[in-house]
Amino acid sequence: MRMDKKHFIAVTGEIRNHLGFLAETGCQGFDCSEKSLDILRNWGKDASQVQNRQQTSSPDMLEIIRRLISNCRRCKLSAGRMNIVFGAGNPGARLVFVGDAPGYEEDQSGEPFVGEAGQLLTKIIENGMKLTRNQVYVCNIVKCRPPGNRPPGPDEIIACLPFLKRQIAAIKPAFICALGESAAQAILITREPISRLRGRFHNYEGIKVMPTFHPAHLVRHPEKKRETWEDIQKLMKELKNI
Ligand code: SF4
Repeated sequence: MRMDKKHFIAVTGEIRNHLGFLAETGCQGFDCSEKSLDILRNWGKDASQVQNRQQTSSPDMLEIIRRLISNCRRCKLSAGRMNIVFGAGNPGARLVFVGDAPGYEEDQSGEPFVGEAGQLLTKIIENGMKLTRNQVYVCNIVKCRPPGNRPPGPDEIIACLPFLKRQIAAIKPAFICALGESAAQAILITREPISRLRGRFHNYEGIKVMPTFHPAHLVRHPEKKRETWEDIQKLMKELKNI
């Protein structure tokens, strides 16, 4: 098959970009297993475009993505982290909670939402929704802790977002609960404040997204718990309907 010059330059450019990406993530070799090749074939596609998702199970896909980023240096947050906080829970969850970034306890343990805010999220899930943490999936927009628990910067979100997208494509949830402004804005690609985004469903690639306040915000502003509970109740109602 002959390839014209323009097409050849585009293909080699794409290969160069991809190898650069792998190098940035710390890749030191190539895993050419069918499962890994499946991930690479679908890299960059929307969840709705991925034809052969059935070939690799969600737990396997998540494990491949976890391994792919295990030495990631794509952004400056890699310099200060103790652990990459990938995510935890049911790989086939119908509901995924997405926060902004790991905090101190999460960085130390490598597990998402284990500090004070995490305990509040667990209460919401267990006492409010009558679910367990093992029935849902919990993760963050960025996988490494920003210094001093500051919100992640735009450059850090852009660097890490492809990993979250791949996680969501692997899990295929029906719902996402975006916890806090950074998470909601990153998922929905908007600058609208959380006060205007929360309380109603939005769409991310066919998945219903309910933004609400981050549990850490609720720890500092308990008066916001009532609005959060209203958002969670809307989510629960839809979960029952689908
Ligand atoms: S925050 Fe994400 S992109 Fe940045 S180093 Fe950590 S895993 Fe890589």
